[in-house]
Amino acid sequence: MNYKYVTVAGSGVLGYQIAFQTAFHGFNVTVYDINDDVLDKAKARFKTLCENYKTTLNATKEQLDATYKNLSYTSDLKVAVKDADLMIEAVPENPKIKIDFYEKLGQVAPKKTIFATNSSTLIPSQFAHATGRPTQFLALHFANKIWKYNTAEIMGHPETDPKVFNDVVAFGKAIGMLTLPLHKEHHGYILNSLLVPLLRAASELLIKGIAEPEIIDKTWMKATGAPVGPFAILDTVGITTAYNIYKMSAEKTKDPNAIKAVEYLKEHFIDKNRLGVSTGEGFYKYPNPTYLEPDFLK
Ligand code: NAD
Repeated sequence: MNYKYVTVAGSGVLGYQIAFQTAFHGFNVTVYDINDDVLDKAKARFKTLCENYKTTLNATKEQLDATYKNLSYTSDLKVAVKDADLMIEAVPENPKIKIDFYEKLGQVAPKKTIFATNSSTLIPSQFAHATGRPTQFLALHFANKIWKYNTAEIMGHPETDPKVFNDVVAFGKAIGMLTLPLHKEHHGYILNSLLVPLLRAASELLIKGIAEPEIIDKTWMKATGAPVGPFAILDTVGITTAYNIYKMSAEKTKDPNAIKAVEYLKEHFIDKNRLGVSTGEGFYKYPNPTYLEPDFLK
């Protein structure tokens, strides 16, 4: 693997974390998003990330200054990928948006550029042909709070070149990830095959009026020793991404409970801009959610 230039497309909840982690490990990173206002918001959030790197990873001022120097920003896709060895896509979890993005990207990216999707639930073969370069395309899936929960699931599709797969595994290691190669395509990969059913079950308990979010989270935390419960996870993931995932599944299955969960999230969270940690409120209020209080489980 001799990647040097990496482009991250989409600077939302995950994109800005991927960009920062990659720049922190010495790669030259260009952050791309649809307009400069969105990019300015991402830049502002890098400051908070710095604090996390200091406290969790003991990052020094020199390392963080070097990270900033490795980052550049543009809302021009052609400029964003002009040197890219690797482009990591973190645009919304919506197949239409992703296909449209890959069709445009395929036309402007240099031949050498490898494309990787960070999609949480969609599989690479859904987009491989839209990229125009299926052998150079695969999934590289990170977890939220990448600096701390540093997993990278790598999943090819039947046409992915094995060298590209191995290079992306090596890149994952080079940016400090525990790399987790998958043998086959699978919606939800490993992490979300386990996590999404948990979050969905928690939402169903709430919507059916069985218990409120805090009680559901307390049950999960105390009984399994987990550090947070499903509603705290939903706030961290971001309610928009959860909403998109639930919606796709409800449209496919027509399951009445799934439809109710989508309507519930829309009415109580999406329409009220209560999108989780990123907007300061979701199921909990931030920056001091009750689940972090010492007495929460007493
Ligand atoms: P988000 O909504 O926070 O961010 C998406 C970003 O993409 C926004 O900044 C938006 O302006 C930008 N965008 C929209 N259309 C675009 C386009 N055409 N080109 C470039 N940028 C565009 O979403 P997110 O939570 O960061 O999720 C992004 C991807 O990462 C999704 O596929 C999601 O499944 C995946 N992911 C999310 C998490 C998580 O915890 N949130 C974890 C792992 C993977």
